[in-house]
Amino acid sequence: MAVPFGGESDEWCIVLIVVERGGSLVLVVEPTRQAVPCPKCGELSRRQHSSYDLRPLDLAWRGHTVRLRVHSRRWFCDVPSCPGKIFAERFDGMLARYARRTNGTTELLTAFALQAGGEGGARLARKAGVPISLDTLLRLL
Ligand SMILES: [Zn+2]
Repeated sequence: MAVPFGGESDEWCIVLIVVERGGSLVLVVEPTRQAVPCPKCGELSRRQHSSYDLRPLDLAWRGHTVRLRVHSRRWFCDVPSCPGKIFAERFDGMLARYARRTNGTTELLTAFALQAGGEGGARLARKAGVPISLDTLLRLL
């Protein structure tokens, strides 16, 4: 059964949940859109170029670390005047570009760091199932 992913969006579905050795969860997320707007010109593209996986850290579930495996796609923009000939699908509201964490995870970790400082924030994050190094947490600030 495919579960809609991303709150009100029906652009993505969780198609598989994998329990890894050690208890971490991997949610496999597949896009469902048949056409995607080019970020440069806004024109819809229906011609897929390639695909790749993103593996961002997500919010924990009941203390279990959760990682997404998002099957992301690159698309051709066929508008001759557009400077974006090939572009990657965006995940607005869920993932910033090149992010290693979901937006909600980044917000939680930033709140931990602001409330408890670097080392305290990193300890809270590990306890909450969102492991992060002190250096990475400090970079978020
Ligand atoms: Zn374009």
